[in-house]
Amino acid sequence: MNDLNLKDKIAVLTGGAGIICSAMARSLAAYGVKTVILDLNKDAATDVAKQIEKEFNTPSIGVYASVLDKASLESARKDIHEKFGPVDILVNGAGGNSPAATTGVEKMNGTEDENLEETFFGLQIEGFDRVFDLNFKGTLIPSMVFANDMVRKKSGVIINISSMNSYRPLTKIAAYSAAKAAVNNFTQWLAVHFSKTGVRVNAIAPGFLMTNQNRFLLIDEKTGDHTPRGMKIINGTPMERYCIPEELTGTLLYLVSDLSKFVTGVVIPVDGGFSAYGGV
Ligand code: NAD
Repeated sequence: MNDLNLKDKIAVLTGGAGIICSAMARSLAAYGVKTVILDLNKDAATDVAKQIEKEFNTPSIGVYASVLDKASLESARKDIHEKFGPVDILVNGAGGNSPAATTGVEKMNGTEDENLEETFFGLQIEGFDRVFDLNFKGTLIPSMVFANDMVRKKSGVIINISSMNSYRPLTKIAAYSAAKAAVNNFTQWLAVHFSKTGVRVNAIAPGFLMTNQNRFLLIDEKTGDHTPRGMKIINGTPMERYCIPEELTGTLLYLVSDLSKFVTGVVIPVDGGFSAYGGV
């Protein structure tokens, strides 16, 4: 059970109350890692932490902070030091897209009567900024705050959560795609910057998950069939199905443990073959 040597390590998961990071936190707790569920939603974070303590008998706490607010992260770090001690593992999971940064159409049709509001020209700069910042600066700022502990200890691991759209952008979601591409680039940059400190930096790029937030886009409520966008995802995924959060945890455990001691600066796709497939 504890042969990965993770017992009593301290892990912070940002967006820890969410679908992916709560599953990741459970997988770490199963190996004896003390988990900090850091989230904007303090109640949800506390609930996840309570469930983890009950299920795995491993200490877990829910902590409020915004990944875009350095002062709130510093204050969370102070709490974490008091309750657990310095941080060994950081999973940068807070992220996501917003309708305010999404075009209405996939491609312009180029006609004179085209509604430009539905195209690139209708994107709101505020919405673009919000999504770009959450995904990119929301990875950068927590790394700045929590890697401090790791550099002092001369040991630690940062895992960034990327996406399929970091390799090739998905239609409609320019800000989210650009931000995740920036996350990959930053993963490599920080890995090199920290390469002599004992701190490794890697990323996981999940394939497509069906979540409560995107279910309405992927499944037709009336018929229960895949929507055209859902169909494209299934057809573009050689394994022909969605990913489930637990399928990301094997790669996480590999990357946070000494099994990957000489691995830094990589982005590992866990995607049922999506990124390898040219569609023909
Ligand atoms: P989710 O919406 O279930 O969870 C995100 C969590 O982040 C929420 O609990 C939310 O409260 C929290 N959060 C939002 N803004 C925050 C902030 N400023 N500070 C702190 N916490 C904040 O999302 P998820 O599907 O679990 O996604 C987790 C990560 O995985 C994201 O980076 C997302 O981009 C990425 N991802 C998701 C999918 C997918 O299909 N769901 C696919 C690939 C990558």
